[in-house]
Amino acid sequence: MVKEIYIAGEWRLGRGDKIQSVFPADQSVNAEISTASLDDVNEAVEKADLAWRQSSWRNSMPHERARILYKVADIIEARVDELSRLQTRDNGKPLAETRALTLSAAATARYVAAACETLNDELTTQRAPDFMTMSVHEPVGVVAAITPWNSPIASEVQKLAPALAGGNAVILKPAEVTSLIALELAKIFEEAGLPKGLLSVLVGRGSVIGDAIVKHPLVRKISFTGGTSTGRHLAHIAADKLITTSLELGGKSPTIVMQDADIELAAKGVAYGIFSSAGQACIAGSRLFVHHSIYDQFLNRLVEITKGLRVGHPETAGMHLGSLINPKHLASVDAYVQLAKKEGGQVLVGGEALTEGDLAKGSFYLPTIITGLNNSAQTCQEEIFGPVLVVMKYDDEADLIAQANDSCFGLAAGIWTENYRKAWQLARALEVGTVWINTYKKFSISAPFGGFKESGIGREKGRLGILAYMQQKSIYMGLSEQPNPWCD
Ligand code: ADP
Repeated sequence: MVKEIYIAGEWRLGRGDKIQSVFPADQSVNAEISTASLDDVNEAVEKADLAWRQSSWRNSMPHERARILYKVADIIEARVDELSRLQTRDNGKPLAETRALTLSAAATARYVAAACETLNDELTTQRAPDFMTMSVHEPVGVVAAITPWNSPIASEVQKLAPALAGGNAVILKPAEVTSLIALELAKIFEEAGLPKGLLSVLVGRGSVIGDAIVKHPLVRKISFTGGTSTGRHLAHIAADKLITTSLELGGKSPTIVMQDADIELAAKGVAYGIFSSAGQACIAGSRLFVHHSIYDQFLNRLVEITKGLRVGHPETAGMHLGSLINPKHLASVDAYVQLAKKEGGQVLVGGEALTEGDLAKGSFYLPTIITGLNNSAQTCQEEIFGPVLVVMKYDDEADLIAQANDSCFGLAAGIWTENYRKAWQLARALEVGTVWINTYKKFSISAPFGGFKESGIGREKGRLGILAYMQQKSIYMGLSEQPNPWCD
């Protein structure tokens, strides 16, 4: 049966083509889903615009909006097993990972609810005796939320919760290959009591439906997570419309292992930083710099750990790496490995897809370590979005900083050292939005997240994350009984 989509509070078949959700591990079809047509986009956006303007929503008390988000969190948690399985079926990540993402989505909804209840507007400085001023925050209106396939439930709640808490309506366009979770989220928000029209989930191709949503004149904000080239395209559209964006884009994050690092801790952390999610993470620590004095020792241990990683069916417990998203992506990852070889790189471990047995039906790629390249090599500069780590040696810290920053990206970095003074100095010198010291890929919803340089614009999360979906208004109240002086 073809799945319906969620158009302005109604479940019905989209009027576009059908697409399939496919299980990456064996290419079996999970579901056929109808997609939105351009008419569906118009209808959803127009109804969203009516819905957010209704005073019952935009003027609702913050705790009333929060109540819905608390319920969303409870429902997600109660359905954690089912939602994790669904996401694994959609994107091929191991169940342990999709479970962690599902629980983090619940935590995000709860955190945003609490932030929503406790946000204040300000009385601004009152210098003049005859008037007072206030700065209040208003919703921006209809928000386009566009999400990628690698961590759908987490990135979707990260956008929906603050946008709705801010009094807006949202048109969510999930990645065409992983739309199932977004449709479940629509059911969850509906069950939690979100008024009709405030949320639509429009499944469809990015270049057609995504494009039509962001170009719609009534859409007043774009919140996007995905590739840098799509982000740049959306930024052009936003510039034409003079609307704001939050763009969370790609990365080629440097990880640095200093001479005094705890080798065991660092080797395990580096392996986790690049190979978890099979490297399909914008924050993957994909460029490694190791101090020359420990290079051989560290690399031997890293290779040993990497050889011990289990690549396999994502529904089997204990797997470290599941399938890549699809055969096309597998081919692109492998093409980068072949390019690295042409550039003079040596593959120390991995470097191939699994082509035998049951796993051959999926898109499994072995965790891969490449040495012998210079930071200027194409393989060291471009985002591969797969389980491929390039390793370089460094001597001098000034040169290390220059190389680590020699990238168009600036999303994240990792530093492994026992010397916290050095770690602090390095952390400040790196041109990235997030730095992990002696850990990697840890996330707190309370810490703002986003990129420097071509890794993005704007920040998500944090207590003030809701304000990214609002605009400030200054209100002046005259207190004097005298006319304005000019009228005297
Ligand atoms: P990835 O490389 O992770 O697939 P993309 O940037 O291609 O990243 O896709 C991320 C999201 O952006 C997906 O939901 C995709 O459908 C959407 N998208 C792709 N192209 C466009 C576009 N031209 N306009 C709007 N959305 C788009």
